[in-house]
Formats: sequence, C-alpha cells, structure tokens
Amino acid sequence: MKTIGLLGGMSWESSIEYYRIINETVRDKLGGLHSAKSVMYSVDFAEIEALQHEGKWDAATDLMIDAAQHIENGGADFLVICTNTMHRMAEEVQDGIGIPLLHIADATAVKIKAGGMRKIGLLGTKYTMEEEFYKGRLIYRHDLDVLVPGDEGREIVHKVIYDELVLGVIEPKSKAQYIQIIEELIMEGAQGIILGCTEIGLLVGAKDVTVPVFDTTLIHATAAVEYALGESEFSSQ
Ligand code: GLU
Repeated sequence: MKTIGLLGGMSWESSIEYYRIINETVRDKLGGLHSAKSVMYSVDFAEIEALQHEGKWDAATDLMIDAAQHIENGGADFLVICTNTMHRMAEEVQDGIGIPLLHIADATAVKIKAGGMRKIGLLGTKYTMEEEFYKGRLIYRHDLDVLVPGDEGREIVHKVIYDELVLGVIEPKSKAQYIQIIEELIMEGAQGIILGCTEIGLLVGAKDVTVPVFDTTLIHATAAVEYALGESEFSSQ
C-alpha cells in the first residue's frame, strides 16, 4: 500500500472528511483492521484565507510548496491537496516536489465522463468558479461544458463557504439558497452538479438534488485510496 500525503486544513472541517473516507474505504476494501497509511500536514487556514482575499497568491504558493515538501519528506508516495481552490497553484506545487500530485479536477472529470455527462454545473469558491485553473481545466482538458451561477449566485455560494461552512456552521437558509441555485443550473441544462468545494458536501448532497452530484471530497479521497492500493493509475484525461 502506498502512503497517501494529505495537504489539509483548508478547512479542517473537510480534512476530517478526507481522513474518514480514506480510512473507511481502505477498511471496506481490505477488511479486518486495515487502515490507510497517510501523512497529513494541516495549515492554519486563517493565514491562507488572508493571502487569498488579499490576492497574495505568490506567498500562498510558497506556503503550499513548503507544506508539500514536508509531506514528501514525511514519507508520502503521492500528494492530495484537500481543497479545490488551492489547486490554483497545483503546477507550482508539483514542480516543487518529487512525488506525483493527484489533481482533484481530473479525478472529478473522470467520474463525470464515466457517467456519460458533458454539461455540468459547478459550485465552489469564486476562484474555482471563475478562474482558468479549475473551470478552464474542465473545459479545455476534459472537454466539459461548464455552467456556473450568475453574479448574485456566485456571491452567495462563495460567502456561505467562507462565513459558514469552513467554520462548521450549517444553516438551513443557506441550504435552501444552494438548492435554488442548483435548480437554476439544472434548468439551464446541467446534467450533473460538481460540489467543487470540499465543504459543500456538509451542506447539500445527492438526496437534495434531482441530477447526479459529484462531491469532490468523496471522489478525490476515493481516488487516492484506489491509487494507494494500485487499483488505478493517475489519469489527467
Ligand atoms: N475547501 C474549499 C475548496 O475546496 C475552500 C477553502 C479554500 O479556500 O481552500 O475550495
């Protein structure tokens, strides 16, 4: 079994989910007392959030590379960055380490395409919904047709993530707003919805939505186990 490297703390509310899913999946696959071999480096999210919102992406990149190097030095065989947003600097992180990085958008796109879907709704932070590193990767590398909410919807989705979900706060009102926004994307033709922020699964799930949901936390954590157990290779196509 390979050792999974987890760059977490963004936020720890979702890192817990990664840790739980990874270990439950290994137990289900191998049985008995088996659990995952892993190394986690968990950052102080207040530092990350400040750098993001001040647009200090170079400093954030340095911090991510440093954390990833600690994970590699800790014995990890590959790296999982436990957030969608901080894949903004995935290429620089990959260049700074000698172990492979399992990209969250690639793992998600593989699932979407396996489900025969092409037109897909995307919820996440504004960075994830608006910038090339994520939305663009789905469009240009994976040939998906990506729908995001309008200005007001993106504002709501982003604000709920940073004001509530990363603090572990689950509000029924926010859940209703998310479901409304998702329904609008479905009316525009979305065949499925990417929960493209690792905390969104704490608020809405498959039972709340009439089309398939792609929970990036679940997909990414499961893909990590499959790779660790030698059941799959990395696929970026
Ligand atoms: N966990 C979130 C994500 O998947 C947002 C927190 C962050 O900015 O990293 O994008």
